[in-house]
Amino acid sequence: MRTPIIAGNWKLHMNPEETTKFVEAVKDQLPDPSKVESVICAPAVDLDALRKAAAGTRLHIGGENCYFEDEGAFTGENSPKVLKEMGMNYCIIGHSERRGYFHETDEDINKKAKKLFADGLTPILCCGESLETREAGKQEEWVVRQIKEALNGLTADQVASLVIAYEPIWAIGTGKTASADQAEEMCKTIRETVKDLYDADTADKVRIQYGGSVKPANVKELMSKPDIDGGLVGGASLKPESYLQLVNYQD
Ligand code: 13P
Repeated sequence: MRTPIIAGNWKLHMNPEETTKFVEAVKDQLPDPSKVESVICAPAVDLDALRKAAAGTRLHIGGENCYFEDEGAFTGENSPKVLKEMGMNYCIIGHSERRGYFHETDEDINKKAKKLFADGLTPILCCGESLETREAGKQEEWVVRQIKEALNGLTADQVASLVIAYEPIWAIGTGKTASADQAEEMCKTIRETVKDLYDADTADKVRIQYGGSVKPANVKELMSKPDIDGGLVGGASLKPESYLQLVNYQD
């Protein structure tokens, strides 16, 4: 049985003080992590505050990006090893905003995935097509290629513990959610791709999230789909009330 995982991606929002206040506001109302895993991924500058506030609570925590080296002359980058030392459980990699604005390639993302696993963190690996690609009917081909390139060289055990987030770019921050059927269709395709690349057991274990305008009003329907194991949530994860409604969608 896959444990559902709802993760907030704060993007470039919140400061350390707001981070502490947010965790204080949600910490006593988070679901049992064996039923729904609650995660917040925050900007690097907030992670120390996040770690301190989340200590001893049910909240799991992560970064939004990292480099594929632990140290060296890489000005401005974040070390996966230090993320681990800081108590992070997860790190988002391959978000479409990083691919688009910061020119990250599938090869970079593959290196980051390998490094995170080597350092003992779980990647939340994002994939997803643009509107142009969907309108051309090439979305499956696009996402399958992203998955194949990102997973290249990872072991079955690593992939079984991975979180994959399918985030169609046209649904991010637009209020335009993919329908639950569209989201399910792609999440199922991703699971089948993992099965083809590895085996049925690995495909059965990997958790696949949908992301793109997930909010309290649509989370239940999305989560009712068999291949959708969670959500990666931007805007609706920034307010404690809304975040709590998302993670407590089973109530
Ligand atoms: P929104 O939930 O704001 O659409 O953002 C989705 C996203 O990009 C999460 O990573």
